[in-house]
Amino acid sequence: MYKIAVAGTGYVGLVAGVCFAEKGHQVTCVDIDEKKVELMKSGVSPIYEYGLEELMQKNYASTRLDYTTDYQTAYRDADAIFIGVGTPEQPDGSANLSYIATVARQIAESVEKDCLVVVKSTVPVGTNDKVEQFIQDFLINDVKVEVASNPEFLAQGSAVHDTLHAERIIIGTESKWAEELLTKIYEPFNLPIVSVNRRSAEMIKYASNDFLALKISYMNDIANLCELVGADIQDVARGMSFDERIGSKFLSAGIGFGGSCFPKDTKALEYIARQNGYELKTVKAAIDVNKEQKTILFKKASKRLITFNGLKVAVLGLTFKPGTDDLREAASLENIPLLLKQGADIYAYDPVGSPNFAKVHPEGKDGKGSITYVSNIEHALDGANVCFIFTEWGEVKAVTPETYGKLMRTPLVYDGRNIYSVKDMEDAGIEYHSIGREPTK
Ligand code: NAD
Repeated sequence: MYKIAVAGTGYVGLVAGVCFAEKGHQVTCVDIDEKKVELMKSGVSPIYEYGLEELMQKNYASTRLDYTTDYQTAYRDADAIFIGVGTPEQPDGSANLSYIATVARQIAESVEKDCLVVVKSTVPVGTNDKVEQFIQDFLINDVKVEVASNPEFLAQGSAVHDTLHAERIIIGTESKWAEELLTKIYEPFNLPIVSVNRRSAEMIKYASNDFLALKISYMNDIANLCELVGADIQDVARGMSFDERIGSKFLSAGIGFGGSCFPKDTKALEYIARQNGYELKTVKAAIDVNKEQKTILFKKASKRLITFNGLKVAVLGLTFKPGTDDLREAASLENIPLLLKQGADIYAYDPVGSPNFAKVHPEGKDGKGSITYVSNIEHALDGANVCFIFTEWGEVKAVTPETYGKLMRTPLVYDGRNIYSVKDMEDAGIEYHSIGREPTK
């Protein structure tokens, strides 16, 4: 059992902290947000992740897990301090490392015994070296502090499962001491460990995320071509998926990738390449395709409807993917302002994302249009002139084609997630447009 502190209680930090506690370590999660800390102490998770709250309550009750804003006490005698703070995108595409720098400084001013600082946040190659130097520069006590890279691969929506059953743990270290300590911390997880140097670990994270982003953008590019030549992207993907070299995952075409990672990590790696005098053409192409893809349905619908002014528009799904309340880089954030600008009256349904969306677009009049958040799908569809599907929530997938026909004023559906068969929609008399497939006749 090790004494572990975790800086940052977002998707990465909180899930890591809770899972370390679940595996028997003594964990203190640190955040600067007092409200978040109070919420967590009362057993409530500040983020929506399946199974997380249950584990938080169980481990808090067992006293293996605690939450605080008092970083000094948490870091003072920790064996290891994991950093899981954000590294958001800056206007030029580079990663903002100011949160990492603040934590590094706080660590340097707090630690009173030898400890390993482990960077879980996604950071540009070479950052771990800088963090180690930064901590040495500000260190107050005469103790050994080393930095290791341990990038995170969890996916939002299945974060707890992905952490407890990770396909691999990447450990990037520069000393036997750091490698052995980090290996021991992960021993109770019984997962495959890949041990490399720090820079390779940092690059593994970007290379993995950007590869997946590329795979998605490639399928979206092919989908757009499918529409022009009369092929069906879902059949194409199915046919491709039997090839083990390609695999069956990440072959679904749609309205582009969102979330806090793929958009920012593609831009960050492209920036790193540029800084090193190299043009990363493949990743740049993925970024460009994704940008276009986000509004592809809006453009199609605009041609068909001429204007959205005064139309009731049903929007099903606001989050960037199902299973999360996260809206970062979600397609809804691009499309809804365009609809509002044209005077649409939007009725939006999302099982968990509406409160977060309402922070950006409060309910009521908005520009020429308006937005209303509804808690059932039928309410959104009732009397609607057009419907957009942005997130493939189970609740949305459960809506039958006939329901659109029964409830909507004009059964016109734009599906960004290809959740229906074109034939089923055709049989139900719906005018249905999706991605990479011919529309209904
Ligand atoms: P997040 O924005 O959800 O959470 C960051 C948290 O850090 C916030 O709660 C914030 O209050 C806190 N914080 C800021 N400064 C702090 C400080 N000085 N001390 C303590 N806490 C502080 O971030 P996230 O989505 O968990 O991502 C964190 C990092 O992990 C990023 O680099 C991201 O790229 C990477 N990552 C994210 C995912 C994901 O799915 N979200 C997956 C893999 C890797």
